[in-house]
Amino acid sequence: MKLLVTGGAGYVGSVCAARLVESGHEVVVLDDLSTGHSDAVPDGVRLIAENIDDAIGSVLAEGFDGVLHFAAKSLVGESQQDPAKYWQGNVVTSLRLLDAMREHGTPRLVFSSTAAVYGEPDGSPIVETAPTRPTNTYGATKLAIDHAITGYATSHGLAAVSLRYFNVAGAYGRFGERHTTETHLIPIVLQVASGKREKVAVYGDDYPTEDGTCVRDYIHVADLADAHLKALAHTSGGTHRIYNLGNGLGFSVRQVIDACREVTGHAIPADVAPRRSGDPAVLVASSEKARTELGWKPERVDLAGIVRDAWEFTQSREEV
Ligand code: UDP
Repeated sequence: MKLLVTGGAGYVGSVCAARLVESGHEVVVLDDLSTGHSDAVPDGVRLIAENIDDAIGSVLAEGFDGVLHFAAKSLVGESQQDPAKYWQGNVVTSLRLLDAMREHGTPRLVFSSTAAVYGEPDGSPIVETAPTRPTNTYGATKLAIDHAITGYATSHGLAAVSLRYFNVAGAYGRFGERHTTETHLIPIVLQVASGKREKVAVYGDDYPTEDGTCVRDYIHVADLADAHLKALAHTSGGTHRIYNLGNGLGFSVRQVIDACREVTGHAIPADVAPRRSGDPAVLVASSEKARTELGWKPERVDLAGIVRDAWEFTQSREEV
């Protein structure tokens, strides 16, 4: 297929673009490089480094079999401080994309949604039919886009899949996490191991979990990419399917830090700090639906293995 990957110079987008190319698809990346990196775009892929709102119409006019839409603003804290940036950058841009797809007859869409649409869950693991009550603007914008996609699928025949990611981690060869503002646990802990940060702050150790720290479902970015390939093959006109993607296992903040110590051989000092506002105690996905309907299964579920891939990527960047 000829596929447009928005946000293909970012972390998840670049890994997916690489896997799509490996699977024989023709890939074009559209990315404004506001947070992405041009050298993260896989070899042989055309990069259109333009603002999506401005360029999407003329790009889709070329004719594409589908779009994988990764481009988004994705910092929870920033979304609370500057909601307009998120409603504009996520919702308005996605509506422009949907309209341009309709205008140019682009049949398929795979959209990067998030576990943040669920907010504080009633139970664990979280299934797709759980109530959606986002507790931050980031999650609210992704949920609004999911609703818009449902409308375009039902009324205009779009074949769409939304994938709700839990905690994406790890790296795939030379493609990995390179955020200027780093807020995610694993890269932060690895920054301590590589001497860029003195210690880790553990945000709360009085949660109702086994060791008192928050439990999250860390999914390897390559497993996540494989789910996109399966999703693309399972799209069907007029239907919007939604799947959670996690590895189904929960790991606490302390377990993550221990895995990083084991992999890096670094002591990694960690201090308990106050809770971060809006952090649910436990977020673990049920990916049963993706397993049953897409035939997808996460293969890289071992936490140390996920951390090892991220660490190798971090070290390779230091040599650049
Ligand atoms: N966390 C932490 N210290 C940090 C960064 C994160 O204790 O410096 C915790 C955070 O409170 C959450 C977990 O690690 O419980 C995962 O956070 P992250 O920001 O990676 O992902 P989130 O689950 O918020 O999407």
